Amino acid sequence: MTEQQTEEKRYDPNDKTLKFVTRQDDITGEDDPDTRRAEMSCGHAVTPQSLTAWCRSLLDQGQHKFLCPALKEGTLHRCNAEWPYVEVRRLAVLTQEEQSHFEETMAVLAAAEYCEHKTCPGCQTFVERADITNLCVMCTICTAEKGRTFNFCWQCMKKWKGPGPRSDRCDNPSCTNPDIEKLAKCRYITLPEVKDAVGMLLKALVPGSS
Ligand SMILES: [Zn+2]
Ligand SMILES: [Zn+2]
Ligand SMILES: [Zn+2]
Repeated sequence: MTEQQTEEKRYDPNDKTLKFVTRQDDITGEDDPDTRRAEMSCGHAVTPQSLTAWCRSLLDQGQHKFLCPALKEGTLHRCNAEWPYVEVRRLAVLTQEEQSHFEETMAVLAAAEYCEHKTCPGCQTFVERADITNLCVMCTICTAEKGRTFNFCWQCMKKWKGPGPRSDRCDNPSCTNPDIEKLAKCRYITLPEVKDAVGMLLKALVPGSS
C-alpha cells in the first residue's frame, strides 16, 4: 500500500453498487473535479472523507444515529435522513480500526440511551434522565399541561411521592425496588456486560456480522 492510499480513502471506480456523481460534496461543499463522490440513499453526495468526519463528529457528540446534515435543495432545512450504519460503513470506506471505533461507540451510546430513557407514566412520551443519581424525574410535557410540576419515580414509574431528590426509592408503598438489579446494571454497567451488549447490538445493527 502506498503512502497516499493510506492517507486518503477512495472509492473503487469499478464498484457498480455505488452511484457516482460529479456535483459538489453536500456535507463540505467541496467541489474538486478530480474527487470521486458518491450518492447516499437520501440523494446527497459525499466522499469517504467527508462522510467519515461527519459521522465521527456525531459519535463524539454522543449521537449514535447517523443523520444527513445536507440542506434540502433550495431550503434552510437539513435533510436529516437517517443512514443505516451498513451504508455509512460502505460509503465512508471505514478502515478496520474505524469500524471498531464506530461499532463500539454506537453500542455503548445505544446502551446508555436505553438505560437513561423511560416513558412518562402521565403522558407516555420519552423522558431523558439528566441526573442518574436521582429517581425523582420531572416531565416537562405533563408539567406544562397541568400547569404545575409533575414528577414521577424512575423506579416504580408512578407519580412521585414524598420529598426529593432521592436515589433509593420514593414514598409509594409499591416502590420496593423490583428494578433495582436492572437499575444497578445501568448505573454500574461493567465491561463484560458492555461487551455482551456490544455483541448483541452489533448483530442487530450489522446483519451477517459474527
Ligand atoms: Zn441527505
Ligand atoms: Zn409526562
Ligand atoms: Zn417510586
